[in-house]
Amino acid sequence: MVKFMTFICALTLTCSTAFAGESQKSPTDITKIPGLVDVVSLAPDVKVELIYSTTDNFLGKDVYGDLEQCYLQKDAAKMMAKAAQALKALKPDLKLLAYDCVRPVSVQRVMWDVVKGTPQQNYVANPNSKTGSIHNYGCAVDLTLVDKDGKALDMGTKFDFFGKKAQPRHELAFFRKKELTSQQYVNRLLLRLVMVQAGFSPIPNEWWHFNCASPKKTRQLYKKVP
Ligand SMILES: [Zn+2]
Repeated sequence: MVKFMTFICALTLTCSTAFAGESQKSPTDITKIPGLVDVVSLAPDVKVELIYSTTDNFLGKDVYGDLEQCYLQKDAAKMMAKAAQALKALKPDLKLLAYDCVRPVSVQRVMWDVVKGTPQQNYVANPNSKTGSIHNYGCAVDLTLVDKDGKALDMGTKFDFFGKKAQPRHELAFFRKKELTSQQYVNRLLLRLVMVQAGFSPIPNEWWHFNCASPKKTRQLYKKVP
């Protein structure tokens, strides 16, 4: 992570502000946005640790401030409850751990400014594009599985690893090359199984990201959170 931050640092002039690491007020009062609900209110088994509300992320900065809860559209929160139930039935010792949920557009702009013009810009949605990020609507969630001690299962890469090994479209090839172990591969498949069963769609380039609807349907059903 340090290497990546140094790389970003070299390519942008945002280091002094981006890596200051100071906490701040949440840019948007999520609790006042109609339609959004705290996922834990419907799915109490889901653990939450918002990575962008800490300084241990690729920005090196807490961009969520006092937002510590996982807020999603009610439909998506209900789907999370279904996924948690499915996981409990299959593996009672495991739980879902949410890393990122709704992401206000104001935060999307901060992230975009850091990666713009770098190879990592493919991993962050341009806030000025037609859809932006599905996170901006509260219809996407980043998550992993944790054991009974709260320890994240080994998925072969960490969350926000910017490389092919994190991409589901390449994981079979990495498994065949023995660069992903069968346990790492199975852990990813288990996460995908319970999320897809609940109605979420995976994406080809991040094992941790799931959408509650297609981009077109998301735009029709929901509004971006400013
Ligand atoms: Zn995501």
